[in-house]
Amino acid sequence: MISIAIDGPSGAGKSTLAKRLAQEMGYLYVDTGALYRSIGLAVLRAGKDTQDKAAVVSCLPDIVLDLRYIDGTQHVFLCGEDVSDAIRREEVSMAASHVAALPSVREFLTETQRELARKNNIIMDGRDIGTVILPNAQIKIFLTASPEVRAQRRTRELQQKGQNVPYEEVLADIRERDANDMNRAVAPLKQAEDAILVDSSGDDFEASYHKLYDVIASRLPK
Ligand code: C5P
Repeated sequence: MISIAIDGPSGAGKSTLAKRLAQEMGYLYVDTGALYRSIGLAVLRAGKDTQDKAAVVSCLPDIVLDLRYIDGTQHVFLCGEDVSDAIRREEVSMAASHVAALPSVREFLTETQRELARKNNIIMDGRDIGTVILPNAQIKIFLTASPEVRAQRRTRELQQKGQNVPYEEVLADIRERDANDMNRAVAPLKQAEDAILVDSSGDDFEASYHKLYDVIASRLPK
């Protein structure tokens, strides 16, 4: 099986690019952020503080997560409910970033991610795929862009979904999530030593796509 790991900060374009690459290559696309988001959502729904470690851990035994593919698109089910849309709300982004700092949450999700990679050719995106989850992935990419460019993209994306969050607020959230993700003790966001760095700041979607496609095509095992 071939695994392609794409890590990087929020808003670098990982999911849109990885989805299209996976489609083109006939690989399974796995968005691991959806798993952390689902746990964040479950904790919010339970009325608990997502920064309270004991409260978050107490929610875990009641959480059943399932990734299913419907018409080729990943859907995430939380205790049988399709929460694929609910987890995209802005408040869930921050909740995900909080719960993702906890070792027990990361352990809870490790096997689900590795199991998918054992059974499928995959493109998996996240923060620690190349460093922790799939250290033997054949191809590792660290995709990044400046915080300002990422905030612009995210503001536009939220607008298209009818959520009008001001750019400054989105930028502040992105900076806070970057700091959470990079400075946490377990599985912090960082470039794996053997990952290829791709910066998408100056590129539109098509240009980034071709950059990534070329990087992957030239490294795929023959
Ligand atoms: O990728 P996405 O922005 O949907 O992820 C939401 C949050 O989940 C991130 O800010 C990060 O804190 C966490 N996450 C993680 N490890 C992953 C994927 C996501 O810590 N592999």
